Amino acid sequence: MLNLLRKSPVTPAELDAGLAELGLDGSQHVIVHASLKAFGYLEGGAQTVVDTLAARTATLVAPAFTYRTELRSPTSPVHTHFHRDLRVSREIGRVPQEMVERAEARRSFHPMLSFIALGAEAERVTGVQTLASPYQPIGALYDLDGCALLMGVDFGSNTTIHYGEHTAGMPLLTRYVPLGGQVVPTAFPNCSADFGRLEPHVRGRSTRVGGATLRLYRVRDLVDATVRLLSQNPEALLCTYPGCRCQEVRRLVRQQGLTPRPHLPV
Ligand SMILES: [Zn+2]
Repeated sequence: MLNLLRKSPVTPAELDAGLAELGLDGSQHVIVHASLKAFGYLEGGAQTVVDTLAARTATLVAPAFTYRTELRSPTSPVHTHFHRDLRVSREIGRVPQEMVERAEARRSFHPMLSFIALGAEAERVTGVQTLASPYQPIGALYDLDGCALLMGVDFGSNTTIHYGEHTAGMPLLTRYVPLGGQVVPTAFPNCSADFGRLEPHVRGRSTRVGGATLRLYRVRDLVDATVRLLSQNPEALLCTYPGCRCQEVRRLVRQQGLTPRPHLPV
């Protein structure tokens, strides 16, 4: 009985066919968010995802966030220093970690919110990040008319929306991170738990590979739809969980409204 329920493994060729169906032909600059579990059993795991995607994209980007570098205050003791090979937080997933383990990948400097990139525009994408605009690599993808690929994950993992919030002018919180022997402030956004509310406002392409739904969106569509939605209702993407930092952002946006930070090509 159990054997009948067991699905056959997903092969690299099936994954490649799915990516082709979405229109990925090796010319696009893509930020990926993937859950390996969603496929069922994928032959070769994260390595297969990175190899297959790298062959189907010009540039492959992923968030490689490391939340354990976050400090409560400027005077908090530093336990973890950021470095090029620091392990990606578990909740960000195995795929970015696989990219970090490839020596040719470029990792941006941000101690907590770094991005990892492979391919033609890796240097450009990772080079534009600042402490005041940690999601600026998405801005580089906007200029490159790049795409966001969700593999078996929902909009809660769709980091591109944070850049839309940034340009729309959502208030940002302050967090502290160790950098170059000092502790420095960095901008930090609300959470992404309710980003699904953007879904009805943006159109993408989708297909299935094994148990996973793959969805591809233009970064420009996601960012522009976020700006439109927030200009109508600045609280639209904030979650309602009482203990979440979203409530602090809600208070700020009610006091100050939006302060747009328009996207400027670099
Ligand atoms: Zn929240």
